[in-house]
Amino acid sequence: MRPSGSRHSWAPFTFSLKDNGVSCPKTILVETTTHFTSIIVNPPDTGNSRSELYSVSVGTGVKLRKLLETLESYDLGLFASPTIAEPTVGGMLAVGVHGSGIPSLKDSKNPGHSYGTFSNLVISMTIVAWDSSSSAYILKTLHRSEPDTKAFLTNLGRTFVTSVTLRVGRNQMLRSESHFYIHSSELFAHPSRVTSNSRTISKFAQTYGRINAISIPPSNEFWMLVWHVEPIKPLASRRTYGPFNHYIMGLYPAIIEPFYRRLTNEVSQLNRLFSAATEPAVFLGSFLTRSNDYWGPSKNHLLYFSSSLPRMTPYTFTFVTSRSNIQLVLHIARTHFESLTKAYEKLGQYPIRGDFDIRLTGLDDPKDVEVEGAESPSLSPARPIPEYPQYDVVIWMDMSAYSDTPYALEFVSRLQQLLYRDLHGKLAILRAEWAKAWACTLQGSWTNTSIIDHYSRTFSSSDEWNWAVRLFTKFDPHGIFSNDFLDYFLAIK
Ligand SMILES: Cc1cc2nc3c(=O)[nH]c(=O)nc-3n(C[C@H](O)[C@H](O)[C@H](O)COP(=O)(O)OP(=O)(O)OC[C@H]3O[C@@H](n4cnc5c(N)ncnc54)[C@H](O)[C@@H]3O)c2cc1C
Repeated sequence: MRPSGSRHSWAPFTFSLKDNGVSCPKTILVETTTHFTSIIVNPPDTGNSRSELYSVSVGTGVKLRKLLETLESYDLGLFASPTIAEPTVGGMLAVGVHGSGIPSLKDSKNPGHSYGTFSNLVISMTIVAWDSSSSAYILKTLHRSEPDTKAFLTNLGRTFVTSVTLRVGRNQMLRSESHFYIHSSELFAHPSRVTSNSRTISKFAQTYGRINAISIPPSNEFWMLVWHVEPIKPLASRRTYGPFNHYIMGLYPAIIEPFYRRLTNEVSQLNRLFSAATEPAVFLGSFLTRSNDYWGPSKNHLLYFSSSLPRMTPYTFTFVTSRSNIQLVLHIARTHFESLTKAYEKLGQYPIRGDFDIRLTGLDDPKDVEVEGAESPSLSPARPIPEYPQYDVVIWMDMSAYSDTPYALEFVSRLQQLLYRDLHGKLAILRAEWAKAWACTLQGSWTNTSIIDHYSRTFSSSDEWNWAVRLFTKFDPHGIFSNDFLDYFLAIK
């Protein structure tokens, strides 16, 4: 039995090609968006800090946009979230989704907000669990103060969550601004070559905290989208009345998508043309539609990508590191990315077709949820690492291509090798953004057994992975909520 939200994930956690008889799998798909849709904003309580704290109880089929709209109507909100409207609460918890934001000069979170993943907001959750006394599956509520709960906060769909209570904070009024034409050599400069005027990624992070660096390869020009708290509307900003204020992004795929995939696969040189045309189009479009500077409630800033984007696969690398390493880690990662891109370009190939995208978050600090005894989600990509207490940020780096883009897997596998060689265990710990594509080989994503094997060791030296897997089995000994990929992936290591 597979719980299913909006099916906006790529990893084979819902269905898997490993499943027996995949063309007619023996699976019951339980779609949550029809019936698991209640939302109750609870009266405020006082947490550890004794400040007034807020929470919301939601069914796991509630979609992100609905959640944010409801919270906004109570003057509440999240600090960060994914950029699209559709993900469900159950889907977001399962993979530990993220937005963008770290503490900065212009930005701070309110009580009840977290710099970490969505999973870190859980106060309690109700799952379907095996009860040996009645020999039946029953509803079981796990409170964040109980040690077992942390295994289920980022559960990869290895359970069925029916509802959760989430910690939320007072809503924030934000201002989003765009900076265009920042060359990668400046944005990702080596720290030794940074001057006081350089527009570097670490300077943007330090100033604004919430940032998204975007470019379409092979172009090296970046669009920096930044947003921060601004209680009063600045004169220059446009007031917003809803989300998705980068109208140009909504138009782009509708016009291009049907032709783009075929054309760019068949005439690969066109990629250079499309890449070169994107930045001026976004730049011009932003000014014409006044989406280069806008202001309003947080939801209007957190949701900014239309889900009708080109249907590409995002290949992801997630680096857990320290603030002081951000510039160097990204300098190294981007240098490898660009030298590979150049090498393929010389052969007339453009393996990365969609955006190269960077965001930053903090780690899952359990203190954020203000529950006595709370611990970080066991399998979250943003789980703190005991051996590296100085690591306090997560860099989320994505790059996309169509599933049939020539050389995409080869490109990503080669990059993966270089990133593991130069960064893992040296300047960062590499983990995976569960929802997307990771652990690549030429045979496909999620097939690199040595990387899959290695993930278990990136969570903790104290056997966190195996402990979480044992709990999944304890609460579902009959393996009802699993598939063949999960059985293989979540084996005891
Ligand atoms: C265009 C686009 C942009 C995106 N942007 C971001 C982003 O900015 N940040 C980010 O972190 N992610 C992002 N994502 C990924 C997305 O947030 C995740 O894939 C999320 O899991 C999707 O939610 P869903 O409801 O579609 O889940 P599904 O894809 O339906 O399910 C995902 C997993 O959750 C499990 N699941 C679903 N419901 C339950 C439940 N009730 N109990 C237990 N398990 C359950 C499923 O079995 C499956 O294993 C993006 C995806 C797309 C398509």
